[in-house]
Amino acid sequence: MFKRKNIALVAHDKKKQDMVEWVRWNKEVLAPHILVCTGTTGRLIQDTFITEKHNLPTKDFEIIRLKSGPLGGDQQLGAMIAEGKIDVLIFFWDPMSQQPHDVDVKALLRIAVLCNIPTASNRTSADFLISSPLFESDYKPIVKDYQDYIRRSIEDI
Ligand code: PGA
Repeated sequence: MFKRKNIALVAHDKKKQDMVEWVRWNKEVLAPHILVCTGTTGRLIQDTFITEKHNLPTKDFEIIRLKSGPLGGDQQLGAMIAEGKIDVLIFFWDPMSQQPHDVDVKALLRIAVLCNIPTASNRTSADFLISSPLFESDYKPIVKDYQDYIRRSIEDI
């Protein structure tokens, strides 16, 4: 069954243009879903659709904007992933620039792997991800059971 997904979109500054173009190119596929964005990425995407008038009714193109990434947005997103509130992460991170919030970036990528959510780091992987037949399905990622780990940690205290 088709599931409306929460799709997280994040782009570092030099990758924001890539993100806007990617969203524009894939607007029909993305429109039925909820886009959860870090602050500046989300504003750029919103501005693009307002100024370009893509005929997408706002109710069908829902964008949730968190704080800007370096100001806590990456951590907010990480918390949402840990709580099972994000289905897909599209994160165009910049491999050529230092980030002031590098530790947050690393934490976000780590929690995405831990929670086994599909993650794309560039336009090609994002294209492959959203064109997969599984994207339109009610796919549930297998999440490892960490009960043993939790039990052992408590015993060690
Ligand atoms: P931004 O954050 O969308 O607010 O620029 C992106 C990031 O995490 O660097």
